[in-house]
Amino acid sequence: MRRATVVGNWKMHGTVESVSVLLEQLSTALTGFDAAQVAVCPPFVFLEQVKRLIETSPIELGAQNLCEHVQGAYTGEISGGMLKELGCRYVIVGHSERRQLYGESNELVATKFAVALEQGLNPILCVGETLSQRESGDTLSIIDEQLSAVIEKVGVKVFSEAIIAYEPVWAIGTGKTATPEEAQAVHLHIRKQIMAADKDKNGEDSEIAAGLSILYGGSIKASNAQALFSQADIDGGLVGGASLAASEFEQICRVFE
Ligand code: PEP
Repeated sequence: MRRATVVGNWKMHGTVESVSVLLEQLSTALTGFDAAQVAVCPPFVFLEQVKRLIETSPIELGAQNLCEHVQGAYTGEISGGMLKELGCRYVIVGHSERRQLYGESNELVATKFAVALEQGLNPILCVGETLSQRESGDTLSIIDEQLSAVIEKVGVKVFSEAIIAYEPVWAIGTGKTATPEEAQAVHLHIRKQIMAADKDKNGEDSEIAAGLSILYGGSIKASNAQALFSQADIDGGLVGGASLAASEFEQICRVFE
């Protein structure tokens, strides 16, 4: 069955000093913790440092992005193979900031998802609608387009190696959170879409859909995590701002205890 998962997305924050302090606090706080899988996704330049600092803790390593190419003349890019070699298990693909600020299309996100898998990483696929898309009633069709671009490229079976994060764009870094019921409705829809795509099951329940961790992301805090995580199809969180404070992040993880 699916495992509860909490992933911290540090975005472009931190210094060598602050990373050290944060990880020392977090690894101490989460010593022996096994109620959920926990991972942090620091900026690339801190991956090696973080890997050393989490060696004896249950925290795992992820990255925030990868190049769609395996290697070559792509100045400034980082490949999935490099991330794997540095000890990453996860990589976020299709975060809304990448889609909106760096013009990543559904097709590019699908390619990055495929390359991540090829390189032995577990992709965390972010999907979500903007405020205007929600207001015009397009939330589910936007999610479907984002999902089907990936399913068309790599099929649905590989979702046994992946995580999906539903992140309504209007809730990211804004302090606005989807209500638990709003989030649950979208999570259930995502699981049903994966189930429907797993066609060769001939009406049997799809193990891929049942085993898929679907995380919620968007202004999660210690004070709202419990209500969100208690929903049937919310299996954990992708946490931005609150993952930069050890005690806040610890409390979010401990909701699963
Ligand atoms: C994110 O960046 O994935 C995110 C959910 O950010 P925040 O928690 O700060 O809204």
